[in-house]
Amino acid sequence: MHFQTLLVHGHEKPDKTYNAVIPPIYLTTTYRSEKFGKRERFGYSRGNNPTRAYLEGLIAELEGAKHGFAFSSGMTAIAASLAVLKSGDQVLVTKNVYGGTVALLDGFFKDFGLSYELIDMSDLNQLERAFNEKTKAVLIESPSNPLLDITDIEAVSRAAKKRGIITIVDNTFLSPYLQRPLELGADIVVESATKFFSGHSDVIAGTAATNDDGLAGKIGAYQRLAGGIAQPFDIYLLVRGLKTLSVRIDRQVENAGKIVEFLQNNPGIDKIYYPGLAEHPGYAINQRQSKSPGSMVSFLLNPAYNIAVFFDSLRYITPGASLGSVETLIQHPATGSHATFSPEQRKQAGITDNLIRLSAGIENLNDLIEDLEQALKKSIGKNSD
Ligand SMILES: *Cc1c(COP(=O)(O)O)cnc(C)c1O
Repeated sequence: MHFQTLLVHGHEKPDKTYNAVIPPIYLTTTYRSEKFGKRERFGYSRGNNPTRAYLEGLIAELEGAKHGFAFSSGMTAIAASLAVLKSGDQVLVTKNVYGGTVALLDGFFKDFGLSYELIDMSDLNQLERAFNEKTKAVLIESPSNPLLDITDIEAVSRAAKKRGIITIVDNTFLSPYLQRPLELGADIVVESATKFFSGHSDVIAGTAATNDDGLAGKIGAYQRLAGGIAQPFDIYLLVRGLKTLSVRIDRQVENAGKIVEFLQNNPGIDKIYYPGLAEHPGYAINQRQSKSPGSMVSFLLNPAYNIAVFFDSLRYITPGASLGSVETLIQHPATGSHATFSPEQRKQAGITDNLIRLSAGIENLNDLIEDLEQALKKSIGKNSD
């Protein structure tokens, strides 16, 4: 079965009782025990729930994994994946990773003795030099957030595996429709399902998947013991959103490509970060490891333009956090997604104050271009300093 068909039909019959084409929402916390002392597959819903089991099976299939997990947020999926590590271990992290991931390592895991280092994963030599006896995991985002750096997932996974180090990939920016990290050698793939999986800005959720039974045991234990599980109503929305994942992304990528063309020819834009451009340093690697450059575009606004006026002048393009949704979203990493980075961390990650990140939606392209054009015009020369 091809990926698009799997999205629509699912990996198994969604309802074995009545043949409903949509998986039922099982709103139950507990299950009647049929026989004294017998342990059933479903006993208590933190441990397992039929609605969640359906989604987790589907996630496993979509990621090309043996085991899938559904969490209440992308951050919980990342926390559960990092929780396979121990006190004293170190994780090497892509330098411009999602801001929340660094905040989680700093604000939580550090106190439990897990250390980390931010490094430029597009430079394999830098990675090799950073490996030490404490390193037990590598955490990659490719394309990264917000500069869309590309990491060679296969090469990093291979280098890590040689030393017994696991590779975790946050695949949120592309989703398994465009990139399947486990097939490239990664050990765990996580997604913020809040983004492309849901696609409609109406549910916070996360997923993880792995082929490794040992890692799956630990991630499953996190769910059973700490919770942080995806809830049945949210799962209903996710299963519904996933059906259109491929058509949404096809349209989003098409719009992103055309927006990039427009930005390339506009004097207000100093630089564009998009892995679909031949001059992007990761162009060839991205082409090899994924189906497309995706629908995320970052760019630098010329200092002669006022960034606040630009944002406040947009009519359809929505200023706000998040990405991967049907509406085109735009945000300012320095005050938004990466506000939790220290100024030093921002500088190291190359996140300047004139950097803008755009997530292409599915609207009519002409409306989007027109909107960018009029907002850029209004913001020329409005700088007071
Ligand atoms: C949004 C996001 C997360 C966090 O996911 P939540 O669902 O908001 O908890 C993690 N990684 C990336 C790349 C993201 O974009």
